[in-house]
Amino acid sequence: MKKKRIAFKTLGCRLNQYETDSLVTDFVNGGYDIVGFDEDADAYIINTCTVTNMSDHKSRQTISQAYRRNPGAVLVVTGCMANHHKEKLEKNGRITYTVENERKGSIFHLLDSHFKGEIIHPEELVHDRFNFGAAEKSFHSRSLIKIQDGCNNFCTFCIVPFVRGRAVSRPYRDIEKNIREVAGFGYKEVVLTGVNIGRYEHEGLNFEGLIEKILNIPGEFRVRISSIEPEGFGDRLFDMFSHPRLTPHLHLCLQSGSDKILLKMKRQYTVGEFTSMVYKIRSIIPDFNFTTDIIVGFPGETEEDFRETCHIADETGFSHIHTFKYSVRKGTRAEHMPDHIPEKVKNERSAVIRAIAGKHKQAYRSSFIGKEQMVLVEKIDGKDFAGGYGEHYIPVRFRADDDTAIREFRKVMITGWDTGPDGLLRGTVVH
Ligand code: SF4
Repeated sequence: MKKKRIAFKTLGCRLNQYETDSLVTDFVNGGYDIVGFDEDADAYIINTCTVTNMSDHKSRQTISQAYRRNPGAVLVVTGCMANHHKEKLEKNGRITYTVENERKGSIFHLLDSHFKGEIIHPEELVHDRFNFGAAEKSFHSRSLIKIQDGCNNFCTFCIVPFVRGRAVSRPYRDIEKNIREVAGFGYKEVVLTGVNIGRYEHEGLNFEGLIEKILNIPGEFRVRISSIEPEGFGDRLFDMFSHPRLTPHLHLCLQSGSDKILLKMKRQYTVGEFTSMVYKIRSIIPDFNFTTDIIVGFPGETEEDFRETCHIADETGFSHIHTFKYSVRKGTRAEHMPDHIPEKVKNERSAVIRAIAGKHKQAYRSSFIGKEQMVLVEKIDGKDFAGGYGEHYIPVRFRADDDTAIREFRKVMITGWDTGPDGLLRGTVVH
């Protein structure tokens, strides 16, 4: 019998990507074929995002694309938009199943039963946010590891706690088992992900304690910490960055450089605390890589507040800034705040932050010319050039040699800039 074809589309964060990778493995092990999202399939699974209006828009567009591709296919919508707009999606006749985040891990069971003629209502599925197996087959070269879900912070602009639920941490034994399994599959880098991972806490084990235990798991893999809020963990973590297996990079979410705006956002740190964290880590590793998220145009943000944000962005020298224009999310406290900023001003401020980011990206990457990076190979193109990221999370392209293989490390000496448009660095393999 011809194998059923399943297509996936994932929007949003690494947590969504981890969950999709795990589902992909379920379907491959279950005897299904995974096809591209632009191909004809028997089922389309869309793992949506709802963090901004634009994310909702892209999620809706993706749903229409799948339907147009094959109106007869089974259409499964899951992810944060499924939690945020459940009723509306359930009324959408094009969608076969709307599956909330808490039940996402059981989508293989749902579809496999469907194709065997047994129709299950999504709400009969297991309600477990950690119901995901180790991802052997995945769309990524590094293995994403979910350690935590949900958040209790309720920052005034953020919809995530409403769609990902309260903060919950995964038991260490399950995390360790997951890491040993993916190391066994040949993954050379694990990326720890969640919603507010710095707040990890399980049976007395906190985030620093977790990192320490993970660094003691034997195996030829390195550990990367995914996006993290600048709170919930202590200074003990900073010293751990001198461990050769913990990569010297943090995506530390600043959001604003104005204490007045941080208070309105109900963020749990001050600008001073943020910058002292940066300086402490840089005192241990001077070329440590910081990237961040910044929201421009938060209600009440004055020119003065914005200048403070620009000052911190410049001073910290982030090698990348994910710039968000404030986006009203229904149901959040900021929705009802006064002094919403005109779109035109948001666009102007966003452009200013991007310019600052571009300048520092260039400077930070240039500082690696003449230095070595241990590059995890992600792709090898037709011209025998390989590409991937070094431990400092900088993208490098180099001429592949016989030992160069996808998902393997190559030590590379950075020699200059690559000729292509992507701002990659060029290097040569160090034998
Ligand atoms: S810490 Fe704030 S921004 Fe981050 S997920 Fe929680 S509520 Fe949202």
